[in-house]
Amino acid sequence: MGDHIVTLNAGSSSIKFALFALDGGPWPRQVAIGQVEGIGVAPEFEAKVATGDKVKRRFEGAAAPKTHDAALEIIIGWLAETFPGAKIVAVGHRVVHGGPLYSAPILLEPAVLKVLETFGPLAPLHQPHNLAGIAAAGKAFPGIPQVGCFDTAFHRTQPFVQDTFGLPPQYYEEGVRRYGFHGLSYEYIAGRLAERDPAAVRRCVVLHLGNGASMCALRDGQSVASTMGFSPLDGLAMGTRCGQIDPGVLLYMMQQKGMTAAEISDLLYKKSGLKGMSGVSSDMRDLEASDAPAAKQAIDYFVARIRRELGALMAVTGGVDALVFTGGIGSNSKTIRARTLEGMEWAGIVLDRAANEARAEVISAPGTPVTVYVMQTDEEAMIARHTVRVAKLVTPALADA
Ligand code: ADP
Repeated sequence: MGDHIVTLNAGSSSIKFALFALDGGPWPRQVAIGQVEGIGVAPEFEAKVATGDKVKRRFEGAAAPKTHDAALEIIIGWLAETFPGAKIVAVGHRVVHGGPLYSAPILLEPAVLKVLETFGPLAPLHQPHNLAGIAAAGKAFPGIPQVGCFDTAFHRTQPFVQDTFGLPPQYYEEGVRRYGFHGLSYEYIAGRLAERDPAAVRRCVVLHLGNGASMCALRDGQSVASTMGFSPLDGLAMGTRCGQIDPGVLLYMMQQKGMTAAEISDLLYKKSGLKGMSGVSSDMRDLEASDAPAAKQAIDYFVARIRRELGALMAVTGGVDALVFTGGIGSNSKTIRARTLEGMEWAGIVLDRAANEARAEVISAPGTPVTVYVMQTDEEAMIARHTVRVAKLVTPALADA
């Protein structure tokens, strides 16, 4: 079956994976995608192969993986069983934080891993899990190159005024900066837009609206500003995260309500956003289907923040030639797209209602100044492409070129 790459995205209680074949075109071809969820709790394994087949398994009792190592063993076992003869030649990892240092993907050698550990305090909820996934993969695939692809790297092109806070410089020096996240998604979309509409990458805003949600302003295909900041809490309201908040609120919580850092973190990351505001769900489909006034309010707030950030980012780019909606909500919710763009004719943004209803690729009215796209993002594909390049793998198509 030839050479293959595995991509891994290890979270606190899940490992997402994909298998790519290096067999034809210039890019790796995805042949399977899946995840183990609920590690240490009630684990479930789900995978889908390119032929459309789906597999779902639940693990109970002694069979339940309690660690990332054990979850990865399940994934590797399934891959070996389902794709016998697939030779794994490299593993690509999604790593949340590349700190101020890494602006590109890198081979995960021991010295690099040591540096990545030092970024742990910058992303305590994510980085340790990413590193656990890398360690588990190192054991499972000894001697095979592993590549780290950072969610922050794409934003390292932002100018100082966009990645600093108004604090004394010592904080900037020690890494207290706006890093932005979802970088692999933005990089993928920037590439697709450059192919589809080369002139539009000059000035555009990409809206990645999923369970985690953010927006990014691009100039000439490079990130110049983003709504997520030092942490993935900033900017838009999300499934369970609050989005932008006045730091004075945190002081109030600590000083007046006596809340601990752990309690505040739990509130801001897990009990706020769509879930916290609505009291119904973190899932946009549930909110759209709900009659509860608080669900409506949560959606209203979600949209209002997107519109406000859109205005701000358009001011950074000096107007836009294109907007791109992506992520689970951006790709699928015609209501959120329509509400986001309502009354934006002043900015040259005119929605084609029929195209939006039909989920066409272009949903702006023909001949209007700003072309609005709906595109599916593919972070795994981006990791696989970086992995081929950084691990210096040669696909048959590249060898022929
Ligand atoms: P993640 O950030 O976890 O990758 P996704 O990009 O998959 O999340 O987005 C998940 C979100 O997309 C959920 O809020 C879900 O409700 C929403 N979503 C998916 N399909 C639809 C749909 N048809 N209409 C509205 N929202 C949708």
